[in-house]
Amino acid sequence: MEVKNKISGAVISKMEMMGHEQILFCTDEETGLKAIIAIHDTTLGPALGGTRMWDYTSEAEALQDVLRLSRGMTFKAAISGLNLGGGKAVIIGDANTEKTEALMRKFGEYVDSLGGKYITAEDVGMNTKDMEYVREMTKHVTGIPESMGGSGDPSPVTAYGVYMGMKASAKFKWGSDSLKGKKILVQGVGNVGENLVKHTTEEGSKVYITDINVSKLEKVSEMYGAEIIMGDSIYDMDMDIYAPCALGATVNTNTLNRLKCDIIAGAANNQLEDELVHAEMVKEKGLIYAPDFLINAGGLINVYSEINGYNREKSLEQTKKIYNTTLEILLKADAEDITTHEAALIIAQQRIQDHK
Ligand code: NAD
Repeated sequence: MEVKNKISGAVISKMEMMGHEQILFCTDEETGLKAIIAIHDTTLGPALGGTRMWDYTSEAEALQDVLRLSRGMTFKAAISGLNLGGGKAVIIGDANTEKTEALMRKFGEYVDSLGGKYITAEDVGMNTKDMEYVREMTKHVTGIPESMGGSGDPSPVTAYGVYMGMKASAKFKWGSDSLKGKKILVQGVGNVGENLVKHTTEEGSKVYITDINVSKLEKVSEMYGAEIIMGDSIYDMDMDIYAPCALGATVNTNTLNRLKCDIIAGAANNQLEDELVHAEMVKEKGLIYAPDFLINAGGLINVYSEINGYNREKSLEQTKKIYNTTLEILLKADAEDITTHEAALIIAQQRIQDHK
């Protein structure tokens, strides 16, 4: 695949501005691998973060994504009380047509070359099988299949954490954490979204789903009785909770001018297109935004547990605490008249500072 817009200069300035320690650019002619591994901050421990494979339209777009995602991982680990730093990797290419075993193994070699400073895991466009190929080349990988002694797919635990964050937001907004009868739009019914649909429909919510993958939509709709909504009109519909579970930046000026919900709580990373502008806009509109890096930390908690001998029950127990942390942050933001994103960031940054 031809990737346009070569990255031009100023990469180190960008790293300095965002606080990154190291970036590894990886290519391999034989397998066609084009990847970037970004290590943001290792104060609390090794940088752990998933690998995303995406058909980026430019290298600059891929770089921007990996820089933002790895920084987010630092704060996610910090606020979740884990002794981990933040890192992330992106592989440029179409996961459906360009991903091969050889490419994943080559990527594993690059991960290994960092000697444990970066530990990888699954993200969009990856599955546990891919992690097996990576595992053949490096031990610095989590989220490997349970049959290989790993923690398996982290998505159900992520979804459980998002569900906890959603319930805490409901408690803050409506005085009760019951989601019964609430209208919830789940955008993206992939690994996490589908599990979130399961939790919310089981609680009796009226769940709407949207996705670009029509066959997945139909399958999830059939399984859980969720109503399918297509197209851009999703941002104009009447709902109580908007749950972005596809890609980032869907909370932006355009959507905020249209959204008619009370709560935004979902799994996607970097939901706010601009962390400052849109967190403020959310606050001004009186919406409750459950910070993404806080409520989607279940998967990270799960893979972290793999490093120290996996225990599913313990992972779920720790993920359940997302409820209390979310409530604490919403109350802090309210009391100090700051955005919920800022409140979460302050707590995460404080933990890193305390460690120095
Ligand atoms: P996934 O690839 O399994 O699912 C994503 C879904 O979103 C797919 O079904 C895809 O078709 C759909 N999608 C893509 N673009 C869309 C669009 N424009 N509109 C509607 N749907 C669209 O990914 P996942 O593992 O379920 O993760 C979902 C999100 O949560 C991602 O942003 C990911 O980074 C984040 N996240 C995942 C985990 C995890 O444990 N898997 C942990 C933390 C955060």
